[in-house]
Amino acid sequence: MTDVRSSGLLAPYREAAGRGVLLLPRCGDCGAWQWPPRAACRHCGGALDWRQASGGGRLSTWSVVTRAPRPELQADVPYVVAFVELDEGVRLFARIVGTGADALRTGQRVRCRFGPSPDPAISIPVFVAEG
Ligand SMILES: [Zn+2]
Repeated sequence: MTDVRSSGLLAPYREAAGRGVLLLPRCGDCGAWQWPPRAACRHCGGALDWRQASGGGRLSTWSVVTRAPRPELQADVPYVVAFVELDEGVRLFARIVGTGADALRTGQRVRCRFGPSPDPAISIPVFVAEG
């Protein structure tokens, strides 16, 4: 199985995130959104284009990270990571910022923002709770 992190498939996603835009692959034939990126549509095999996603979604599950997985994240703990079900029907794994885990609830509306990653040259999608 190809590792999308090193395959170059994430390059358009990363470039757009640096501009504060959430781009996701979408099938030009059947219109299905996809995540993670892949070479062809997982439903019909059609060609994928990168399209701007709405940035809206719902909180699916989350967890609090209390032990930094890498030394550069030590200053950030504790922080919340979550699976977000985007309105486009795909799931993203991302941080939730601005709200502690105690105040989150399943199905809560969240919205994409962009924040710094451990590498200050890279901007990554994070989500904030709405309402
Ligand atoms: Zn398709």
